[in-house]
Amino acid sequence: MTSAEVAAALRCGKPNPPWQGEPLLGGTYGEEEIEAAVAAIRSSMEPTVGFGFGAGPIAAFEQAFAEYVGCRHAVAINSAGPGLDMLMRWLKLQPGDEVIVPAINFQAAPLAVYGAGGQIVWGEVREDTLQLDPEDVAAKITPRTRAVFPVHFNGLSAPMDDLQAAAPGLPILGDAARACGGEYKGCPIGKHGRATVFSFHTMKNISTLGEGGMVTTDDDEIDAWCRAQRFYGAPIEEWGTSNVMTKVQAAVGLVQLGRLPGFMDARHRLAEQRDAWLADVPEITRPVEPADCRHSYYLYTVLVDRAWAGEKRDRLVTMLNEEYGAGAVVANRPVYASRRLLAEHTAGQRCPRSDELGERLLCLAIHPAMSDEQNAYVTASLCAAVGRLR
Ligand SMILES: *Cc1c(COP(=O)(O)O)cnc(C)c1O
Repeated sequence: MTSAEVAAALRCGKPNPPWQGEPLLGGTYGEEEIEAAVAAIRSSMEPTVGFGFGAGPIAAFEQAFAEYVGCRHAVAINSAGPGLDMLMRWLKLQPGDEVIVPAINFQAAPLAVYGAGGQIVWGEVREDTLQLDPEDVAAKITPRTRAVFPVHFNGLSAPMDDLQAAAPGLPILGDAARACGGEYKGCPIGKHGRATVFSFHTMKNISTLGEGGMVTTDDDEIDAWCRAQRFYGAPIEEWGTSNVMTKVQAAVGLVQLGRLPGFMDARHRLAEQRDAWLADVPEITRPVEPADCRHSYYLYTVLVDRAWAGEKRDRLVTMLNEEYGAGAVVANRPVYASRRLLAEHTAGQRCPRSDELGERLLCLAIHPAMSDEQNAYVTASLCAAVGRLR
């Protein structure tokens, strides 16, 4: 943006309320969701029907989601976290068995490894995409490695084929909590890899009334495992608990899934505008969308210049939030920086590149309901704040 464009965009004024760095509702909700929820409640009011999860919208949502991803199976669950736990328990990890997860990550996937009794091995992320680095994975494979557990970070696909090539024969299990709607090699995220977990938490790209998730897989055994795990394990005589989605949530999920392409188009429109506006800000590296991927832009993640790492980046984030009302968050620093439990579990492991990137990344508010004018305001705020800190 030229300084005249920045001034003009800022004159339009702060959106009221301001967009948060990670908005608390990641999609939009309308009458169609309300009607679907009400219809699901009405259809449950008969004592012989109730909210039983065996039929109706849950199976329909699973089928629609499996068709969308292009997988044989989709298993609806109450939240992504239990889905990650299910996949880790499927590995039947023995003490000392290792699972490689990216260091820059949300805490859920590494906690799932820990909770299933495995040893977390932190993998570096690539500087350009912030995705788990296949070269580092290859270097960290040992005879004890049981799986590679990439996160499709901030909406972009992990490099699934490269990860599989780096870990021949090992299952690649994906955490796509932030990446519903993204694509890899012409397929929706969830098609590649042995199994993938999605979140429909309120912040994510689509939401089933605030909580919810889905596991997708082509593997019949994993499908049976997850179905059993989500309801006390009886069919396979294994431990299990209850992690079911309600039929009201599934009814809303069907509507949200139908709106996903529109949400993706909106996020793309905003990101592309922003890419153009930020082209001439030398301190900011814009997000990369590799040629074989379609980003879902759950977050719009930029890197500040090396010289701006740490304290100066933090000042920039504070200025954006407090002075401009242009939401910005740091998502995420390496997990071991914020979870002592996991830092102690992985004592002695180092990921210097991820440490540095954790001090340089910054996510600027993005949301499918953001107007072009608001997008210009948010972007101009970043340009202006960077100019003031120069
Ligand atoms: C939100 C999130 C989760 C957890 O999702 P829930 O549905 O809230 O359990 C897991 N992994 C990542 C990367 C996330 O962003």
